[in-house]
Amino acid sequence: MAEGVLVHESAFVQSNAVVVQGRAGVLLIDPGVTGSELDCLANDLRELGRPVVAGFSTHPHWDHLLWHDRLGGAPRYGTARCAATVRDQLSDAGAKARIAAHLLETEIAGQVPLDLLGLITGLPAETAQIPWDGPEVRIIEHHAHAPGHAALLIAERGVLVAGDMLSDVLIPMLDVNGTADPIEDYLAALRLLEGVAGGVDIVVPGHGSVGGSDQVQARISQDRAYVLALRNGRVPADPRIGPSAKPGWEWVSDVHEGQLRRLAH
Ligand SMILES: [Zn+2]
Repeated sequence: MAEGVLVHESAFVQSNAVVVQGRAGVLLIDPGVTGSELDCLANDLRELGRPVVAGFSTHPHWDHLLWHDRLGGAPRYGTARCAATVRDQLSDAGAKARIAAHLLETEIAGQVPLDLLGLITGLPAETAQIPWDGPEVRIIEHHAHAPGHAALLIAERGVLVAGDMLSDVLIPMLDVNGTADPIEDYLAALRLLEGVAGGVDIVVPGHGSVGGSDQVQARISQDRAYVLALRNGRVPADPRIGPSAKPGWEWVSDVHEGQLRRLAH
């Protein structure tokens, strides 16, 4: 999608994996979901002669924490807070079984390899960029959606990897249990992203369509309008929910109803 930046979109909730070419190999961000997709990605990279030299998970949700042994043993990073959250989750012996049980209700039951889930190293707090031999990848950490969530800015390629924000199909999903003021945390994160939006030509959400330069500010504004409506207890007019939702994404309206109830004044 930009020089040296590639994306693979999964059939599962349009999850996007991002590959950034560096000098000796690639950085792999949120690798993907099913075993066959991860295997296919490993094949493609092998054919291109580009080993994975670093991995990064944008946030501590299972669908962003996966890995495949054929992707190799490169260090996998996340923010310190992301890694600590994952460690907490996995210290509970039933965690993977619960994820597997949740997956039984999806179309990818039995297809997701959980062995290497969440084996990430936390970068020291305030780390400004991913330590690797490639284009500078700036870490923009905030508290929206999940603890230790990071957006990644590849400024010299004009690419913003947004994690689970700025989607054209998913509404903002707030971390309603993990923070004292999920609404303000979300608005603060949007301000951070807005602060870098001027130099961004391509925005990649964790789920949904890759957007061009016209989409960056549009999606920030759309997410902000949704969150403000939620704060005011109103039902927001939003193309991602209700009758105008894309086919297959009607379930997002249920998520919205849940958030409206949880955050009701
Ligand atoms: Zn998420």
